Amino acid sequence: MVVIDGARGEGGGQVLRTGLCLSLLTGRPVRFENIRAGRSKPGLLRQHLTAVRAATAVGRATVEGDALGSRSLSFRPTTRAGGEHHFAVGSAGSATLVLQTVLPALLAADGPARVVLEGGTHNPWAPPFPFLADTFLPALARMGARVTATLERAGFFPAGGGRFVVEVTPGALQPLSLLERGPLTVKRAVALVANLPRAVGERELARVQKRLGVPDAGCSVVQIASPGPGNALHVHLGFDGLTETFSAFGRKGIRAEQVADDAVDEARAWLAAEVPVGPHLADQLMLPLALAGGGAFRTLAPTGHATTQVESIRHFLDVALRLERESEKVWRFEVG
Ligand code: ATP
Repeated sequence: MVVIDGARGEGGGQVLRTGLCLSLLTGRPVRFENIRAGRSKPGLLRQHLTAVRAATAVGRATVEGDALGSRSLSFRPTTRAGGEHHFAVGSAGSATLVLQTVLPALLAADGPARVVLEGGTHNPWAPPFPFLADTFLPALARMGARVTATLERAGFFPAGGGRFVVEVTPGALQPLSLLERGPLTVKRAVALVANLPRAVGERELARVQKRLGVPDAGCSVVQIASPGPGNALHVHLGFDGLTETFSAFGRKGIRAEQVADDAVDEARAWLAAEVPVGPHLADQLMLPLALAGGGAFRTLAPTGHATTQVESIRHFLDVALRLERESEKVWRFEVG
């Protein structure tokens, strides 16, 4: 049995999700201790418990410790089952992170899968649905993955209530190389508003236009259906081969211009480093590349999530991973 100390590195939910995912992929049972010890509310929150339930369903696993607040868990999968799945977080917790837990396993499952996910779809500190649809899944598609995702309803904090459907056709992942970034061919910004004045989105986009030079034609305010109020800004910048997504979220008491600045600052740091892969895609691409057994990308200085992810993969897979600094702002991740 693989034993994972959840206090390691970032000490958050990602250690759990990656461990469950790799247990499903390798068939090796796993035990987690100190789950999310690095967070102010440690243990399994709803979102993490739903991820455990999702992995249990896909792996037809036996599990102990799957309760809210639990800080230890053991998990023993028996298979990787495609078919129909339905995972509901039951709060505004991120449903895309639940998908992150089982998607690689569904790509290696015994048949196609259709998965309905419910919960938060546009959350800070998690991949928002537009990042999934416009950045992560297209990158996976370049590795040969056949996955579609359709948003049916947006879910924002605190009301939640979002829903999306993912269809997965199993198949092996191929290596991917993302080392150079060509000239920008995509410059778009979308301000989503749910049950809030349209002007919030208009002010965000005015700021994005001013600071990033996104053309008028590339800017849109979209009034989106959701059970509660919500606002998200997504800046999409693409070159031949990849579109990155930089996101920020409206919050009570924060000016629309400040929300825009959060996304613009992240986009500008990526532009200045002239690397293809941004900080969030970096930690999320590591596992697919490791599973493909090859590939490389250039990115910005690694986040705590990225360095923790390298360690988590090494716990399960005997594959050579390198994460090295190439110059002041540029790092290179390489498999094989
Ligand atoms: P916690 O234990 O911190 O409450 P969590 O379960 O929410 O955690 P983390 O361990 O913090 O999760 O992992 C968050 C994941 O969400 C990482 O893979 C990170 O790259 C991704 N992420 C965060 N913000 C964004 C964003 N703006 N766009 C895309 N992905 C993001």
